[in-house]
Amino acid sequence: MQRRIRTRFAPSPTGPLHMGGVRTALYAWLFAKKNAGDFLLRIEDTDQNRFVPGAEQYIIDALHWCGITIDEGVSVGGTHTPYRQSERKEIYRSYAMQLVESGNAYYAFDTAHQLEQQRKNAEEKKETFSYGSATRMKLNNSLALSVDEVKELLSKNVAYAIRLKIPENETITFTDLIRGVVSFDSNLVDDKVLLKSDGMPTYHLAHIVDDYLMEITHAIRGEEWLPSAPAHILIYRYLGLTAQMPHYAHLPLLLKPDGKGKLSKRDGDRLGFPVFPLEWKDPSTGEVSSGYRESGYYPEAFVNMLAMLGWNPGTAQEIFNMNELIAAFSLDHVHKAGARFDLEKTKWYNTQWMLRQPNEAIAKRIKPMVATRTGISADDVRLSDNYLTACVALLKPRVQFEKEMPEKGIYLFKAPSEFDQTVISKKWKTEFISFFKMLSDEFMTLQDWSSQLAEQTFKTTAEKNNIKPGEVLQLFRVFVSGQAQGVDLFPMIQLLGKDEVIKRLETALKFV
Ligand code: GLU
Repeated sequence: MQRRIRTRFAPSPTGPLHMGGVRTALYAWLFAKKNAGDFLLRIEDTDQNRFVPGAEQYIIDALHWCGITIDEGVSVGGTHTPYRQSERKEIYRSYAMQLVESGNAYYAFDTAHQLEQQRKNAEEKKETFSYGSATRMKLNNSLALSVDEVKELLSKNVAYAIRLKIPENETITFTDLIRGVVSFDSNLVDDKVLLKSDGMPTYHLAHIVDDYLMEITHAIRGEEWLPSAPAHILIYRYLGLTAQMPHYAHLPLLLKPDGKGKLSKRDGDRLGFPVFPLEWKDPSTGEVSSGYRESGYYPEAFVNMLAMLGWNPGTAQEIFNMNELIAAFSLDHVHKAGARFDLEKTKWYNTQWMLRQPNEAIAKRIKPMVATRTGISADDVRLSDNYLTACVALLKPRVQFEKEMPEKGIYLFKAPSEFDQTVISKKWKTEFISFFKMLSDEFMTLQDWSSQLAEQTFKTTAEKNNIKPGEVLQLFRVFVSGQAQGVDLFPMIQLLGKDEVIKRLETALKFV
């Protein structure tokens, strides 16, 4: 019988969740949903030194904002509780002991100081120290010491770690779902610590025990874990769990915009984009890091962009909502090479998603910003849903973020108090005064008011004055809006209303 597909996201709560982590969660989630399976959230907090308060809640909030739902795990519970590794401490020891008893792991009594010394000695010889088959017999462990010595140390409760005994001269092979068959020379793999002297397991042991007990079928994780994979394969083998071992998929790195190296928080600071989904305030330093949410990105845009950073649908389609992503997603189309972050493309996704938002919804969201920016009173028609919705329709093609609208479209809410001087000095001729006066009069006589009527009147008035419409068009825009560029001119004229346009023209003419 085929096992039910189960994937997990297993972050360590060491700070805010990096967008690369969000992508790992997203791919694991998409894979589970595509296969009608479960997605778990497990918190890997065995490194007490790196624990950061608030980080776990941040992870939950970030996934929630992205629309990544949790079927089982911290915050929702499930049949495999607890989902926090620090609360599972007791479970891991027996697995470590099983490995010691079968001769595949051993006690290592080396102190931090002794190991540091080894590192220094190696450095002096321009070598790197590795605890493994080449060195272990010269070190302070149960393989190198006599049985009696080991017994004595244990009876005296001398602190020890448990290390995996990597075999010599073996080729360790497994099939990665993204990279295909991968092989490692066991002589290059170190004897990883499985259980630390504080009794806590390391990631290597804990994730295996948990993936097994939580019945995970696919372990989808970052590429940085690939070098440790041979040790993980061996642990499964030595525990007799090879048949239950999940399929591993190692996702490509997220790279800096120039493609040189892993995308880091510092790149975001330097180049002005968020690397975190939500804003984060460091609890110890108070330092605030920007988030996509607070920067005005839609979760749909952020998720869409992340999905495409390292995966392609095999078609030219670029815009996907979550359901479309689930339908299209497959690990076969995840790339092997690192994916370069592209800020312009990220903004483009936001623009695309903004175009898909209902204008009424954007209008509601920008209303308080417009009110603050302009000081217009709440009952003013310019703050009405209808008026704001019409503004949104005009402004949408001109901005990348809806929060830009109040400022970019300020002239839709307030008559200009200044007029673009460059346009005026370049285009203004005194004889135009009679044209604009006549235009104002003609507008006044109009019974109806529409963008077409206003445009028609503009053209015929120009003809009557022997002026080409093109000569006065930009001046007209500047007189009404103050600015050389902006939303479509005649639709704007229609929206502002006849009286407002005439009033603005009068003010402008006094000014020139
Ligand atoms: N705790 C590990 C990390 O944050 C999890 C890796 C995995 O998904 O297995 O990188």
